Amino acid sequence: MRIETDLKLGFKDVMIRPKRSTLSSRAEVTLERNFNFLHSSTSWSGLPIFAANMDTVGTFEMAKVLAKEKIFTAIHKHYTIAEWNTFLDALAPELFQYIAVSTGTGKNDAKKLRDILDGHPSLQFICIDVANGYSEHFVNFLKETRKEYPDKVIIAGNVVTGEMVEELLLAGADIIKVGIGPGSVCTTRVKTGVGYPQLSAIIECADAAHGLGGHIISDGGCVTPGDVAKAFGAGADFVMLGGMLAGHEESGGELVEVDGNKFKQFYGMSSTTAMNKHVGGVADYRASEGKTVTIAYKGKVLHTIMDILGGLRSTCTYVGASRLKELTKRTTFIRVSEQENRIYTE
Ligand code: 5GP
Repeated sequence: MRIETDLKLGFKDVMIRPKRSTLSSRAEVTLERNFNFLHSSTSWSGLPIFAANMDTVGTFEMAKVLAKEKIFTAIHKHYTIAEWNTFLDALAPELFQYIAVSTGTGKNDAKKLRDILDGHPSLQFICIDVANGYSEHFVNFLKETRKEYPDKVIIAGNVVTGEMVEELLLAGADIIKVGIGPGSVCTTRVKTGVGYPQLSAIIECADAAHGLGGHIISDGGCVTPGDVAKAFGAGADFVMLGGMLAGHEESGGELVEVDGNKFKQFYGMSSTTAMNKHVGGVADYRASEGKTVTIAYKGKVLHTIMDILGGLRSTCTYVGASRLKELTKRTTFIRVSEQENRIYTE
């Protein structure tokens, strides 16, 4: 047994220090980014935010709206091929670049991925997603996937440490998904004691990835637009959102009305709800590692997106970054023991 005594930080442990700025308006800030990738020759430009590949968030309805804003949706892996075909046949070809196809690491997952990509070869982004990106089986699946699709952009995760980021990049990933346990409906830290505070995970994993020419997605733990800004400030190339995009018209989950107020269901992909829905229940040998919650209905997702983008532009003006790309360089975090004043917050 060993103890690392360095303090690791989450979003709530820091704020971004303001800096002198020559920007006179938020309108001068560019949030769009251009990326070239480590293995794939595809280049991409857009707003580097992802809707998470949860069946309540990464829906086709969400993708239709977000793609028009140049924002990614990692489509969840539970749609049928027929549903995929209907969706993609109606989607403008220039919007395909904002769609990532999620897959697990089983034989059936690989076959389904093949079927989706064969039917629509212009889809460029594959997201290989497992809860524990440290397994050898996962690394082998990644290597096979890279062999099979030499020119696709492969996203792989989740991990939280630099050495595993390097291993996955060397095994063929272009972008590493970073985050174990920070998610809003995740109970991994409670059930297993395993995890890593998200801000430190981003800082350490971005350093490892950028050293090799790779990229990272910060996945999980953002609750406010300020957290999204902190994730970018810490070095994330992309930020993935679950809870912040849940509960909208475009999100999955049942809409219920109680006493005239509308609510939507939201649940983790390892929750009992998700496992009952997709794999016929929770297997005896495992525990559910996700929550099921009911959240107030939030209306159209575009409104939330505009709020996040407005917040990000404002962060950039506070630190003098005219482009989102410069935010990390302009970021100095200060450690804090308080965040906002909650006196009038219900
Ligand atoms: P959020 O933005 O809601 O804080 O986090 C979203 C992320 O939580 C997802 O992208 C995924 O990585 C993670 N997640 C989703 N469902 C579950 C679950 O059931 N268990 C765990 N451990 N993580 C989950």
